[in-house]
Amino acid sequence: MLTNSKSVAILIAATVSIITTAFLSLVENVPIEGLIVAFVLSLSSTYIITYFTVDIFIFGQIEKIHERISQLNNEKYNFIDDDFTKKKGNPLYRINSEIISYALSKQQEIDELKKAETFRREFIANISHELKTPIFASQGFIHTLLDGAVKDKNVRNKFLKKAAKNLDGLDRLVADLLIISQVETGVIKMEMENFNIHGLVHEVYEQLEQKAEKKKTELRIDANCPVDLIVFADRHKIYQVIQNLVSNAIKYRSDNHSYVMANFIDHGAEVEIIISDNGLGMAEEHISRIFERFYRIDKSRSKDKGGTGLGLSIVKHIIEAHHSHVRVKSKPGIGSEFSFRLLKGGLTK
Ligand code: ADP
Repeated sequence: MLTNSKSVAILIAATVSIITTAFLSLVENVPIEGLIVAFVLSLSSTYIITYFTVDIFIFGQIEKIHERISQLNNEKYNFIDDDFTKKKGNPLYRINSEIISYALSKQQEIDELKKAETFRREFIANISHELKTPIFASQGFIHTLLDGAVKDKNVRNKFLKKAAKNLDGLDRLVADLLIISQVETGVIKMEMENFNIHGLVHEVYEQLEQKAEKKKTELRIDANCPVDLIVFADRHKIYQVIQNLVSNAIKYRSDNHSYVMANFIDHGAEVEIIISDNGLGMAEEHISRIFERFYRIDKSRSKDKGGTGLGLSIVKHIIEAHHSHVRVKSKPGIGSEFSFRLLKGGLTK
């Protein structure tokens, strides 16, 4: 019965006015008209006061709690900045605010868990697919050899080479997965130190020299770059970043006379490192996605070139662990430019 403010107000107003009139009737010489006026006045004033008090402060608040919980259920969070958090005086406002912030934090936890679960499922599906391909291929070559092809020297060598190539790919994939999981779970600690960025790029170039020569790609450092720039970063991880970028620039070369160019720009407190190429380039729609795990623009071509699809994802993680980010500019048929900034360290003697 008492489910809305009107019925509560009528009940209280009737009780108060009956008691008031009863007390008045005990007083001598009060005429009946006076008792009626007193009854009507106390009934109407108590009704109005009770109605507004109960409606605004109790039912209104309960209604708001209900409304916000249904907004939470529908994942609408635009009321968060409402005034309910500011009205601290009324205890019902505070209860409202407590319930909402509790519900909100639980809802956010649930949303995050749901996202993590979807992400985990997709990641496992991707990994299984990526592992399956080289395992099945190697298995196929080895079984064919065991079934008799081993007797033919030419076939034997060809199949063994193919099996080895697939197993090498598997090895790279597992190594990349290990790095990614370590960077993501924070197992790998950053070991920050001062080092010369020109020297580091030079080392990467030396390591990739043969690969570049095979692909007829020239590895250059802009002659106008300062040679003594020192950065403060994790040397080993920045080595991996540059190695990934340069190796991609070689892999995705175009048929023109190809080159990879490194550039360093002194921005005062930071040093910008730019690795550019005149290779295949990428269309606009791929640029925002290339840092996703296993995202490849041309899947078969990337695998052909020994790509795991994890290289740029590792690059992004490492650069973000340095509180920086990677920028990409690219145009199909023209080339690509990857750049990021690192904190500047001291200067060399
Ligand atoms: P992958 O192992 O396939 O090379 P990455 O994460 O390193 O994986 O790169 C993702 C995709 O981005 C590649 O498959 C390739 O299509 C594209 N890509 C990366 N670097 C370049 C580049 N320098 N030029 C053109 N395409 C590139």
